[in-house]
Amino acid sequence: MSDTLFARIARGDLPCARVLETEHALAFLDINPVNVGHVLLIPKQAHRTVADLPDDLAAHLGSLLPRLCRAVQKVTGAPAFNVIANGGSAAGQTVFHVHWHIIPRHEDDAVRWPWPHSSYGDETLMKAMQDRLVEALTNAG
Ligand code: 5GP
Repeated sequence: MSDTLFARIARGDLPCARVLETEHALAFLDINPVNVGHVLLIPKQAHRTVADLPDDLAAHLGSLLPRLCRAVQKVTGAPAFNVIANGGSAAGQTVFHVHWHIIPRHEDDAVRWPWPHSSYGDETLMKAMQDRLVEALTNAG
């Protein structure tokens, strides 16, 4: 995997505004925040997306999210937040080292949300999707 900006930040080769660090993870302020107090959480080990993470590392990163969300809300006074991990360029990922965004949200802020929802329309399509996902998860390593 090629070296990314966040891999260099994780190694300490590039600076960041660090807010939390463990042996395997680092959280720091996004340099171009959606709202002030926008935090990024990354593993120190390089993986492209959530789908590439080993379970134990994913569990460790997930265990840090509640604390980070509470701190972001406390410090910003935000009544709400979004936790988002973009996986792949079609989903908006621009830095290909997995990261979670913790974005404080305020009533009537400038963020356009929610995204548009659709409908299955045909119930058989929903059932087929359910069956295929259950099978994929049953056979997943
Ligand atoms: P993505 O679009 O991949 O989901 O998110 C990448 C995020 O990294 C963006 O929100 C962007 O503002 C942030 N970012 C890009 N370059 C830097 C940087 O050099 N330092 C920090 N702290 N954040 C960065």
